[in-house]
Amino acid sequence: MTFVGHSLVGASLAQATMPAGASWRQWAFVLNLYVLLAFFPDLPLPGWGHFRYYFSHSLFVNLILMVPVTLVCCYYRSRRNFASYPLVFGAVAAWLSHFPLDAMYNHGRGVAIFWPFSAAALNLPLPWFVTLDMSQSLASAYNARVFLMEALFYLPLLGGAMLARRAWLRRRGPSGYAA
Ligand SMILES: [Zn+2]
Repeated sequence: MTFVGHSLVGASLAQATMPAGASWRQWAFVLNLYVLLAFFPDLPLPGWGHFRYYFSHSLFVNLILMVPVTLVCCYYRSRRNFASYPLVFGAVAAWLSHFPLDAMYNHGRGVAIFWPFSAAALNLPLPWFVTLDMSQSLASAYNARVFLMEALFYLPLLGGAMLARRAWLRRRGPSGYAA
């Protein structure tokens, strides 16, 4: 999936985990963090991303990075008023969301997320998700269509998450407690 699909899923998860009454600074931080984590395996860092796809898209490699960071966050959460458990687990979900999304390409090859233990691939192909053609400009008609299809598919998820959050906030009422 491109940055469009991963970002929209990250933003949808932020709607689900942000505490009521969060400031715009918290929103900006969490939204950017979730989008970054949802895109993390694709980040164009040396030895990472699409340069070493098998490595950067291995569930085990990502878990080696993810588990210690999550445990540190949970430790600080238990000691101080740092974030919240839903925020921490939402960040984990944003990161993990990368793999099923990449598995949705219609080429049907899936993602070999079990490297180095197995060559088995997670494969959830949907006919309308095609990969970008990097021989063309990102603004070409072909690539624009790739972005548009992802936006059309994932924007309703974000819209639904925003509506669900609104309904949840309304139920809580102005006192901040569930009515
Ligand atoms: Zn990817």
